[in-house]
Amino acid sequence: MPRQLVIANWKLHGSIGQVKSVLGEVAKADLGANVGVCVPFPYLMLAKQILHPTRIQCGAQNVSQYHIGAYTGEVSAGMLADVGCELVIIGHSERRRLFGETTESAGIKMRAALDAGLMGIYCVGESADERREGRAEQVVIEQLQVLKGLPLGLFAVAYEPSWAVGSGMVASEEQIAPIHALIKNELDPRVRVLYGGSVKANNAASILAVEHVDGVLVGGAALSSFEFIEICKAAR
Ligand code: 13P
Repeated sequence: MPRQLVIANWKLHGSIGQVKSVLGEVAKADLGANVGVCVPFPYLMLAKQILHPTRIQCGAQNVSQYHIGAYTGEVSAGMLADVGCELVIIGHSERRRLFGETTESAGIKMRAALDAGLMGIYCVGESADERREGRAEQVVIEQLQVLKGLPLGLFAVAYEPSWAVGSGMVASEEQIAPIHALIKNELDPRVRVLYGGSVKANNAASILAVEHVDGVLVGGAALSSFEFIEICKAAR
């Protein structure tokens, strides 16, 4: 079994000082190969520089679906690779809900990321209403369709029910395990499936012990070096 993955999503947080202090501590902790940190674009090169002596990977939280051209404000997958980025989060629920990301555009971004040699972390998950209406499985299956045919091993899927993101309401084992199994069943048993949504130092070990959980995608708790290091240590 490959080791579990722990990926930090800093979202719209951080400063030069915070990147230096948090990632400086994380770098010293020597956590091994299966850790990644996704910071805002302006801090990517600094993060890369700090993490360079370690095997911790560096990532972005979005990417353009375009390679080059008159697309003001966009950042291409090739540019991310050029600055040493290895990962990119695509299709996060916040981008879907707030910035018009669709499954179709996220699928195009996944291809662009993989073509540039980046590992894509593709987010899926239902809203509270969709779960209440018994549509969680159907929503996730629809979101997965754009991954069909992508080379296995070059991407991971993150199951992040949007009601669990930033809410402190972590999904239960009974909610996580069947959706992770569904994702593997729909794509391939070898696809790594991470859980995201209110993962903290004090619940990471129990989440990482759930069947079919290959890692975690961590938001708020990744901004504290202490919390993030504890979560990384809980990975098997
Ligand atoms: P929180 O860990 O803050 O709930 O965020 C989860 C998330 O959205 C990671 O991508």
